[in-house]
Formats: sequence, C-alpha cells, structure tokens
Amino acid sequence: MTEPARVLFRNVRVIDGAGKAPFAGEVLVTGNRIETVARRAGAVPAGGAEMVDGGGATLMPGLVEAHAHPSFANTSTLEALGEIPPEEHTLLAMRHVALLLDHGFTSISSAAAAKPRLDIVIRNAIAAGHIPGPRMLAASPEITPTSGLGDVRLHHMHRETFAVVADGADEFRRVARHFVREGVDTLKINPSGDEFVPHARARHTVMNDDEVAAVCEVARSRDKRVAAHARSAESVKMALRHGVEIIFHATLCDEEALDLLEAARDRVFVAPTVGITWATLKEAGDYGIPLPADVLHALEFELEAACTGMRALKKRGVRILPGGDYGFAWNPIGRNARDLEHFVRLFGFTPLEAITAATRHGGELMMRGGELGQVRPGYLADLLLVDGDPARDIAILQDRERLLAIMQDGRFHKRPPARRAAERPMAAE
Ligand SMILES: [Zn+2]
Repeated sequence: MTEPARVLFRNVRVIDGAGKAPFAGEVLVTGNRIETVARRAGAVPAGGAEMVDGGGATLMPGLVEAHAHPSFANTSTLEALGEIPPEEHTLLAMRHVALLLDHGFTSISSAAAAKPRLDIVIRNAIAAGHIPGPRMLAASPEITPTSGLGDVRLHHMHRETFAVVADGADEFRRVARHFVREGVDTLKINPSGDEFVPHARARHTVMNDDEVAAVCEVARSRDKRVAAHARSAESVKMALRHGVEIIFHATLCDEEALDLLEAARDRVFVAPTVGITWATLKEAGDYGIPLPADVLHALEFELEAACTGMRALKKRGVRILPGGDYGFAWNPIGRNARDLEHFVRLFGFTPLEAITAATRHGGELMMRGGELGQVRPGYLADLLLVDGDPARDIAILQDRERLLAIMQDGRFHKRPPARRAAERPMAAE
C-alpha cells in the first residue's frame, strides 16, 4: 500500500469559507482531505509532505457555481443551442467543465442540461477521472409547459433548445420519471417565464400546482431535488408549497414570497443569477443583441426588485448563492466569478460574505455540507491559492492568472508556480 499524498501549504492567509476573519497560517492536506489547519507558522511538521510556500497568498475553498450550464454553448439565441448535434455538443460541454475548473470552480450544481443526457455523461466522466472538471450535480433539461420558457417550436416547424415540453400533471410526472431513470440529480422546471420570452414574461406564472406537485412527488420518492426557474412571486410561492429546494431567480418576490422563503430557509437555496440580468441589461447591446425598449425597461425594474429582494432575504437569513446563468453570447462561461462581485456591489454583501455564499453554502447546495466548502480539518481538499486578498478585492477571483494553484480532491489541477517563495515576503498580518 502506498502512502497517501501529503501537501503542506505554508505562509498563507487562510479564508476558511465559513466567514471567519482571514488569518495567517498553515494547512496540511493528506490524500483528498484537509488534515490540519494551524494558525501559527511552523506549527505543522513537514514530515515528508510536499511543501508549497504561499508567500503570503490567500488559501481558500474552491468556488461552487450554483446555477451552472456547462452544456450551454454561448449562443445568442435559444434555438441555436438546439441545432448543435449531440456529438459536438458533448465535446463542447467537456471543454466547458474544464474551463470552469480553470477559473476556480471546483464544484458546480447544474441548472439544466441543453440535451437530455449531456449533464449525466459529463458528470460521470468527471467522477470516473476520465476528464477534468468540477464535482458536478447533473440536471435534466428544463421541463416547461407549451408556451413556457424554452418552448421554441413554431406552429409550422419543430425546433429545440434546452427544454422538454410537458403539459398536465401526468406528462410532467412521466418526463420527471424519465430523467430519474437516466440518472439526473436535479429535476429542473420552469414555473415562470422570462422577460425575453414574449408569451411568457417574468411576471407570468405558467405552470399550475398539479404540475409542480407531480414533479416534486417524483423527486421526493427517489431522493432527487427539484430546481425551479421562478421569477414571479406566485411561481416562488408555488414552488415552496410543493417542496422545491432550489429556487432560481426569485426576482419579483412580494412580501408573502419573502416570508415563505424565510420560513423555509433551512431547506431552500436561492440563486438569483444576477449575472445574466446585469449582462443582458448593460452589455447585450455590445454583442450586437439589441433588445426592445419594453424588455429593457422590464429588466431594469426586475434588477431593481432583485436588489431589494436579495437585501431583504439576506437580512432574513436565507442562503443566497452566486451563480449567474453563464452560457450565453453576452454572458459567456468562464466569467462566472463575476457573480461574487455583483453580490458585493448590488446586494450589500461584504466580500467575505460573498465568498462564504460561494463556498460553505455552496457545499451545502452540493449536499455535502459536512465536508465541502470550508478550509477545516476533515473537509475535502478543494482549494485555491490566490494571489492577493479577495476579502479586500473580490474582483481578483475573476482573473485566472491570480489563481496560483487549484487543488481538487487533494490533487493539483493547476500546480503552484515554482520559486514563488523567493519572490514574495511573508504577509505581515
Ligand atoms: Zn439558467
């Protein structure tokens, strides 16, 4: 039997992911777990471990993306996604998960696959060690009603995107069971619309109670979870009524919806996906995607409402996680850490709170709360060595060059640069 690999990070500033003030210390990794976290230099004997001198850099948990779309292809329309053949699409998703890991996301919870089995095969290939990528929870495509978000068919022509269309409780139940059989972790439903869908706007609630209940019943009976695209206040309430645990967007909450979210705060996660709203409103034009004035106006209102709502939910102790629907032309995959900056600038999070949301709460979203998302003895060794202090400047995390090392499950996906120790003095604090 060979000894498990050991790596000792010395001379680092630790952000533990649980919200404690950063501290200078040392962290020893043995195998795929963190064995020791010490607050004193020289406290951990090297004992044959590989030494990494951080030179005062920050050591923190890997990031978790709460609303990932690894198989979205950065297209500018939904239909273009449906035109990609499955073979090319699989290779594309494979490149995207590697890219997410390159950007410091060591875990992702998918918010829908662009084709039925894409998430599943990618998740399995990562878990088997066949391809590089984050730990991953796989989702179904978006299960949506006729005329809902993702129903891109025309009366005279079949077209596809990231959705499977179902109508009525029986069809929703059958589709949900189908995807359980195929092996998803998460069933994605679209009970509300979205501003860019003319026939199903964000304020519209397009599924009914029976349909949501049917999917939740399937999930509950098979230990799966349901994630809901829920922008309207009514869609949030409907999702909560039936036990949906992952609420995406929640942008148009009224007081009652906020109360219900607070009452369910120990079991629900909210991912507002502010990245896509921001990019659509402020930047889509730069990508040659002009939006009608009424849509822009509605998005402005929605962003404002989201900021008010998220500030209120934060006060009420609801877990709000970064994850911004990256995967469209004007909001491409790889930029995902931008969401943390949005949390700071728009929702009143401190940088440390945004990091906690993306790490400790992320670990809980990944259903591994006791072992993922913190720098803590016994926890899985998913770690980033960051040049600088993201607790002061959260934007650092968007620059992959500043990610000096990326460790996942105790192995380096990106190795620390050699001779770093000689170049950087020890951090004074
Ligand atoms: Zn999405």
